Amino acid sequence: MNIAVIFFGPPGSGKGTQAKLLAEKLNLYQYDTGSFLRKVLYDPKFKNNKEVQKRRKEMESGALIDLNWILKVTTRRVQEISALGESIVFSGSPRSALEAFGNKQNSGLMKLLDKKYGRKNIYIFYLDIPQAETVRRNSRRSTCAVCKGQLMAFAVKLKACPFCGGKIEHRKDDRKEAILSRLQEYRKLTLPVLKELKQREYKVIKINGAPAPYKIFEKVLEYF
Ligand code: AMP
Repeated sequence: MNIAVIFFGPPGSGKGTQAKLLAEKLNLYQYDTGSFLRKVLYDPKFKNNKEVQKRRKEMESGALIDLNWILKVTTRRVQEISALGESIVFSGSPRSALEAFGNKQNSGLMKLLDKKYGRKNIYIFYLDIPQAETVRRNSRRSTCAVCKGQLMAFAVKLKACPFCGGKIEHRKDDRKEAILSRLQEYRKLTLPVLKELKQREYKVIKINGAPAPYKIFEKVLEYF
């Protein structure tokens, strides 16, 4: 039986980490919207593409990326993955009502998941952390310029990415102003989606996002 899992939560709540752990444990396809976008928007091939550069600026300011474009990209990807018969875990989608519930042309991610996976096989985890923790975690985070891996601050200052040896950078959207703007976007555009999902009687499971990732993961696994 195939399943679709969604991790919701503010920036830095650990959505990507939990999704990765679950993908490895249950053999799911991980769709991390932010990582996917970073790969496309920072691809040197698109250096002179005005549209791509505009979206890159949106991302670096901490705003959500053009919602119509994301809706198209996400639903297309889910069609492909479900056609391969794969289960899926999301970290970063849906993040707006448009992406979740669609418009006249595209009925959105949730309807597609209902159709492809069945309502009872959709799990939505909400990782709850306080605002101060969001800011603290994101300002300590860096990323590898080559493999785009996320690295939390280590006790010893790293000179290179421990995975591929690439140069370590700080994400532009992890500057303090951008973090605050991402938090605002989260409250304004993403949290209402969670409320609506509860109203539409999706299985929404709230988990405290403050403990160590392995502890949170133990809780997540209780549902499978
Ligand atoms: P993340 O890596 O999840 O923190 O995402 C980084 C940035 O990518 C966000 O601040 C947005 O600019 C963009 N982004 C990621 N997911 C979405 C989405 N579902 N809809 C619109 N923008 C997104």
